[in-house]
Amino acid sequence: SFSGARPMSYAQMPNDLEAFWMPFTANRQFKAAPRLLVSAKDMHYVAADGHKVMDGAAGLWCVNAGHGRQKIVEAVQKQVAELDFAPTFQMGHPKAFEAASRVAALLPGDLDRIFFANSGSEAVDTALKIALAYHRARGEGSRTRLIGRERGYHGVGFGGISVGGIVNNRKFFGGLLTGVDHLPHTHNLEKNAYTKGEPEWGAHLADDLERIVALHDASTIAAVIVEPVAGSTGVLVPPKGYLKRLREICDKYGILLIFDEVITGFGRLGSAFASEHFGVLPDMVTMAKGLTNGVIPMAAVGVREPVFQAFMQGPENAMELFHGYTYSGHPIASAAAIATLDLYREEGLFERAASLAPYFEEAAHALKGLPHVIDIRNIGLVAGIELESRPGKVGARAYESLVKCFEQGLLIRTTGDIIALSPPLIIEKNQIDELFGILSKVLRDID
Ligand code: PLP
Repeated sequence: SFSGARPMSYAQMPNDLEAFWMPFTANRQFKAAPRLLVSAKDMHYVAADGHKVMDGAAGLWCVNAGHGRQKIVEAVQKQVAELDFAPTFQMGHPKAFEAASRVAALLPGDLDRIFFANSGSEAVDTALKIALAYHRARGEGSRTRLIGRERGYHGVGFGGISVGGIVNNRKFFGGLLTGVDHLPHTHNLEKNAYTKGEPEWGAHLADDLERIVALHDASTIAAVIVEPVAGSTGVLVPPKGYLKRLREICDKYGILLIFDEVITGFGRLGSAFASEHFGVLPDMVTMAKGLTNGVIPMAAVGVREPVFQAFMQGPENAMELFHGYTYSGHPIASAAAIATLDLYREEGLFERAASLAPYFEEAAHALKGLPHVIDIRNIGLVAGIELESRPGKVGARAYESLVKCFEQGLLIRTTGDIIALSPPLIIEKNQIDELFGILSKVLRDID
């Protein structure tokens, strides 16, 4: 356990910090010098010592409409007083149906059937299970193989870490699902450094799916899952034509294509979903985060009509999908989702993201030439700034910038030595200037 004198700030904290085993955090390092956020409104957090922190990360890519939005607050307050919980197993309540209809209406094409979960990880596991059960329902039960991609992040369930392409999951947890294979990632600084938007080079990397099909045979492959833009492993924008190519190869071999839109959903790229932005219709879409503006946990899988119909062929009194969560379509989450979707529409926030994107792009690329910066990439209201790693200390430089940015009033997200910026879609141009101003000062200040 961490030992030695407790730092001064520790005594000022409202609670003992020991009990909470923090997720994806260096617990001892954090607790020695904690960064506590105590309130939030619109574009800003307030830290425990009272200093304002601009939210350059939409919390964790989720607070797309900004913090403390009255419409969502009121919807949640009303719902918790009216109907706090109702089961959705063999029972129902109106808000879950309304939320599902609203999500279906927002999704492109015939992605019209909505299964609710509570986190992106659960949505991913749900989609993978639907893919497996879909092929069984159609008499193709040999299709069990799941294909992910290197540097993919699909949450932390066993399904998600197996199709994901993050080496630490293999290092720390070992035996993942078998019957999984991976496409190569599309990140290549030599070819694509400092690209604005979609890189020209790399569509051919989708053809690797042909190699995987040739190796395993299509009759063993259930689904391919990718993030249209990989977020958590460092903002990897798909090369032009790449996603279309994946779609074509999946169609050729009867493989389901799943887009994990946990980050890209709800306006991040300037349209409701990345599938719309790129003009590629997957068979399933996973979403979470922005679905409720981060206010109440909720996630969903959008499923295309023919996939859903494959389940509807058996006896009417049989459960078509043996799957669900106690909190699937939770009333309060449903109310939060409805209010959030209203807010996105009323304020035109997806269109706003699209119209701010060029300004955001210029501001991000203006960091070119600053110390440590080796790449800048962007799409919609998301940017990745890749720093050169200190020899033998991957992540140290970006972590130090996170700490310094926080001190100077900016919340950023880092992964390895990549800084990811994804502000709420309500950001103003002068706030974009302020955000990149703080970051460039910090990059000049650190070693
Ligand atoms: N999928 C993607 C693409 C994500 O970015 C994330 C989280 O960042 C997840 C899944 C997991 O979501 P959660 O943390 O809600 O389980």
